[in-house]
Formats: sequence, structure tokens, C-alpha cells
Amino acid sequence: MLLVTDIKQIRQLSREKEGENWGFRSFLRDCKVPAQKIDYVVQKYYRKIADQIDCTQCANCCKETTIFLKEGDIAKLSNSLKKSKKEVIDSYLTQKEEDEQYRFHSSPCPFLEANLCSVYKSRPQSCTVYPNLQRKGVMNRLSTIIKSCEVCPIAYNVFEYLKEEIWSMDDCEDIEEWY
Ligand code: SF4
Ligand code: SF4
Repeated sequence: MLLVTDIKQIRQLSREKEGENWGFRSFLRDCKVPAQKIDYVVQKYYRKIADQIDCTQCANCCKETTIFLKEGDIAKLSNSLKKSKKEVIDSYLTQKEEDEQYRFHSSPCPFLEANLCSVYKSRPQSCTVYPNLQRKGVMNRLSTIIKSCEVCPIAYNVFEYLKEEIWSMDDCEDIEEWY
């Protein structure tokens, strides 16, 4: 299967495939295959695809996603920027009344410079794990991952591989054999 990396094309295709993707989520949930086995398959595809995509040429997650910051993330930025936490909050962050979580005040992220992260070593934890495919517990994050398919070429292509390989099986028992 050819990788799709053009972000406009990915956005369009993801919208067209939205119903299909939610259907695949239901299929996976109904399969009752142990979550660790799904993690194993997803991580296999994640490694295969992430190796072929240059995030420094993309940086779309830094342009289009909402990054939430925890206290520890703010402390890390405060140390690396040599600013107080209040200065970091006032300069770069905002909160919304409905959830009170800190997020960057602008999009693209204020730390994105020439497609690179200017605070790479002290970037928020949620930036380090995006698109959330390489961590355990994929089954609990399927909704978030489906939303990421519109933004992230890695997420989009991993999901396409999964559908192609798993959905074509007659029986979920076959997935059991992969582990
Ligand atoms: S902190 Fe860095 S990695 Fe995170 S969104 Fe901003 S530019 Fe991207
Ligand atoms: S994680 Fe996804 S959206 Fe972010 S830079 Fe890499 S390919 Fe692009």
C-alpha cells in the first residue's frame, strides 16, 4: 500500500472515510481480542510508517492540534526558558472556562519556528507521545486516534494498514495468531 503524505489529501480522505473508521472501531471492540494484541499490531505499523515519514517536514500536529499542558510541563518550560511560571503562562498559554486546562494561546504553536520545535527538549509530555500510537492502551484511545487521522500522516496511514490487514479477516481468531 502506498503511503499518503500530502496533508490536504489526508484531510479530504479522512473526512470521506470517517464512517468507515468508526465502523472499524466498532469491529475492533466487538472482536474482544485482548488489548495487548491490538497494541502489538498497532506498534508494528507505527514503527514501519514513522520510519518513512519526516516529522520535520510535516509539523502539522504543531499547527493544528490543541496541546494541553500540565503543571509539570509548565515547570519544564519555565526552567528551560528561564522565565517564571507566571511569565510562561502569560506569554504562551490560555485556559478555557469549560475545562480550565492550560493550552497554547495560538495555533500554530508559539514555539514552532521554521517547522521545528524551539523547545524540543522541554516540550510538553503530550507532544512527546503524539500521535498516541506507540503507547499501550490503544483500544482506550481509538476515538482520539481516529480524529488524529485528519491531522497526522502517521496516524492516517497506520489506520489504513490496520483496516486493510485486519478488517479483511473472516474471523478475529486470526489476530490471535499474530502475537
Ligand atoms: S511545543 Fe514543540 S512539539 Fe509541542 S506543539 Fe509546540 S512546537 Fe510542536
Ligand atoms: S507526528 Fe504526525 S502530524 Fe506530527 S509531525 Fe509527525 S507526521 Fe506530522
